[in-house]
Amino acid sequence: MNKKGVLIVISGFSGVGKGTVVKKLIEKYHYSLSVSATTRTPRPGEVDGKDYYFKSVEEFRNLIDYNGFIEWAQYVENYYGTPRKYVEDELKQGHNVILEIEVQGAMHIKEQYPDAVLIFLTAPDGASLKTRLEGRGTEEPKVIAKRLKRAYEETDDMKYYDYLVVNDDLETCVDHVNAVIVAEGFKTENNREYITKTKQELLDIRKEI
Ligand code: ADP
Ligand code: 5GP
Repeated sequence: MNKKGVLIVISGFSGVGKGTVVKKLIEKYHYSLSVSATTRTPRPGEVDGKDYYFKSVEEFRNLIDYNGFIEWAQYVENYYGTPRKYVEDELKQGHNVILEIEVQGAMHIKEQYPDAVLIFLTAPDGASLKTRLEGRGTEEPKVIAKRLKRAYEETDDMKYYDYLVVNDDLETCVDHVNAVIVAEGFKTENNREYITKTKQELLDIRKEI
């Protein structure tokens, strides 16, 4: 089937496991992953160009001015943005593209790409969210408190997402996210070219009879 690429937005509270889930999803199912730009300082082990494009505030502002992002947002104390070119090129080639972004960015994507599928990842409960955020050990308690406050605020936006997926058992969560993406690809509106092609084929066959 000649399918149009689907734009998949994955959001979720800080520490819910988005990065972990997305990494497994890409390894197992080979989707295209958009690498964002950010003004945040790299965490230990993060690689420029792989985890993020790490930018100064000035560089980031220049990219905004040159229309280099399809969306950008301020989250807690830093800027984050999705580079335009990669996403547009991949979709044109019919590939499914994953964006791992926060809720303001997700809402901007929904406005520009109404066919995008929005998935919100949650933890089994609030306490495990706190445990995961602390367990990651990459933020100071002050930053953790800000991220938990932001998570509380983000609960108001969960209803705007198409799907809620719980990240309890990691493998199950990855397979559930994949199930959503696969189903989305089978939507008739994502297969218009296939319908046109089938119609033409059946017309040709009728002419032969
Ligand atoms: P996010 O990208 O959403 O901020 P991370 O992927 O960095 O979150 O995960 C936060 C922490 O939670 C990490 O220490 C990670 O190993 C852990 N984690 C992720 N998924 C699970 C899971 N299903 N069960 C238990 N711990 C998890
Ligand atoms: P972190 O600092 O934990 O890597 O990311 C903080 C938040 O920014 C997460 O919710 C993450 O999904 C989000 N984020 C990462 N990249 C982008 C992006 O390009 N745009 C937007 N709007 N949010 C992003």
